[in-house]
Amino acid sequence: MIPVFNPTLIKELKNFLTEPRKIAITTHYKPDGDAIGSLLGLYNFLTSQKHKVKAIVPSDYPEFISFMKGNDKVINYENKPKQAEKYFREAEIIFCLDFNEQSRVEAMQHIMMDNSAIKVVIDHHIEPQIKADYVFSFPQSCATCELIYYFIYALKSDYKMKSDVAECLYTGIMTDTGSFRFSSMTADTHRIVAALMDTGMDHVKIHESVSDTFTEDRIRFLGYCLRDKMQLIHAFHASYISLSLTELDQFNHQTGDTEGIVNYPLNIKGVKMSALFTEKEDGGVKISFRSKGNFSVRDMAKKFFNGGGHHNAAGGRFDGSMDECVEHFISALKYYKTELMDIDALEI
Ligand code: 5GP
Ligand code: MN
Repeated sequence: MIPVFNPTLIKELKNFLTEPRKIAITTHYKPDGDAIGSLLGLYNFLTSQKHKVKAIVPSDYPEFISFMKGNDKVINYENKPKQAEKYFREAEIIFCLDFNEQSRVEAMQHIMMDNSAIKVVIDHHIEPQIKADYVFSFPQSCATCELIYYFIYALKSDYKMKSDVAECLYTGIMTDTGSFRFSSMTADTHRIVAALMDTGMDHVKIHESVSDTFTEDRIRFLGYCLRDKMQLIHAFHASYISLSLTELDQFNHQTGDTEGIVNYPLNIKGVKMSALFTEKEDGGVKISFRSKGNFSVRDMAKKFFNGGGHHNAAGGRFDGSMDECVEHFISALKYYKTELMDIDALEI
């Protein structure tokens, strides 16, 4: 999908960025491939345009998306809160990428918002609620990285795409489209991917880093989740996997090890929605949802689990025990009974 950026707003931003500026770029808590790809894609572009740029994240992120240029410059608020605060305070302009609610940066919210910098949101989640001066929100877009691609050209139409920027943007488009297969993937997006590859960037390196760098623990953990923990609720064409802290410990869990697990049950013929419940250190349960077709997990996450996201990929949280969470999930399934039992699902 080709986003149309408001020309007046772009002109204002362009004027503002004609001289070197102090810029901060940030993204959501526990960033994924699209979050880090858009963060570092824009970081590398703006740095090449002589700006003083700081990339700040609210938490750590997986090793398998830590290969992009600029990764060693990223400031993790959890490790360096004072430095993060200083850079937000000094920034003349702050870019908020790949999230639509301030609470998605968790504890970093106040230092991100309480300053005089111009705020720019670039995002593909529905209904942005961040208080910002410029909001570029395109929920039809498959990835924030796709928007960053167009945003760069909106700012600088004669830009010659560089392979370092291209690698970042490719990563986000690839991870947010399930390797170019979800319904959000369009012919226009394929054309962007082609333009990124024209820079000579190494796509094999990216796929290997994202997909072929599991530790032995991680792949055995995946096996355990699918063999021993996956529950199927046939009547509702649904599946869930619940994981306690003890189970995560048993497999020496590292950040990112649960990523992707929620997708597997959708490989089963007839399964239309899948949930992953992970016990959190501070109590409560973190939830990931995925679906195929018409069923909106965003709606379920919003109504029942204090969350949100996209139509087919959403998340939320539950304050209570795992058993209570599963019970609450079953009530949610019952609430959507007509939709879930009805959707042209095959018998499983
Ligand atoms: P994941 O399952 O990969 O953590 O998240 C999938 C999508 O759900 C993300 O793109 C994000 O938009 C959304 N999401 C995940 N957790 C939350 C949450 O706690 N609140 C909201 N509003 N959205 C979430
Ligand atoms: Mn995204």
